[in-house]
Amino acid sequence: MKIEEKEKIEKLIRSVEDFPEKGVIFRDITTALKDKEGLKIIIKDFTDRYKNKGIDYVVGADARGFIFGAAIAYNIGAGFVPARKPGKLPAEVESVEYSLEYGKNSIEIHKDAFEKNSKILIVDDLLATGGTAKAMVQLVEKLEAEVYELAFMIELSDLKGREFLKGYEVYSQLKY
Ligand code: AMP
Repeated sequence: MKIEEKEKIEKLIRSVEDFPEKGVIFRDITTALKDKEGLKIIIKDFTDRYKNKGIDYVVGADARGFIFGAAIAYNIGAGFVPARKPGKLPAEVESVEYSLEYGKNSIEIHKDAFEKNSKILIVDDLLATGGTAKAMVQLVEKLEAEVYELAFMIELSDLKGREFLKGYEVYSQLKY
């Protein structure tokens, strides 16, 4: 992504203080997605990076990962697979539990989502602690597929998600 493009996207992201709880600065991407040029810059950058890499499936994290994931998959000629919050997928699932600051969460994928040894790109809007992303990696590996890379629009560097995902390739368009 060119410097001017990065600056444009940065300006389009809305930061909301104390949402969803006190002390959190929520990075709202809806203001970037609704901008015609902004959306194009974001999706084109991911597409240029991942086209012709032999990626079989793009896995998007519930729910904002779906927005980027499906668009990237379409552009690079891969399939799209949603990783969903518990109880949403209708057929047999593989599930992984992960820790949040307070309590636990889990994420699920259909057991027949992809073939063994498929090459997978994992996508979400934002990398914070890396808990969600790590759970997605575990889901992919449970199905005996291979993680090609993890892609995010935003990385919150202070929370060290990249270190938590050590051993895997991580790409982010913008860092805070
Ligand atoms: P984590 O598992 O800690 O890496 O958190 C990543 C997930 O939480 C992503 O799906 C994000 O959408 C969401 N998230 C965490 N922190 C923020 C934030 N400051 N602003 C917006 N979304 C966030």
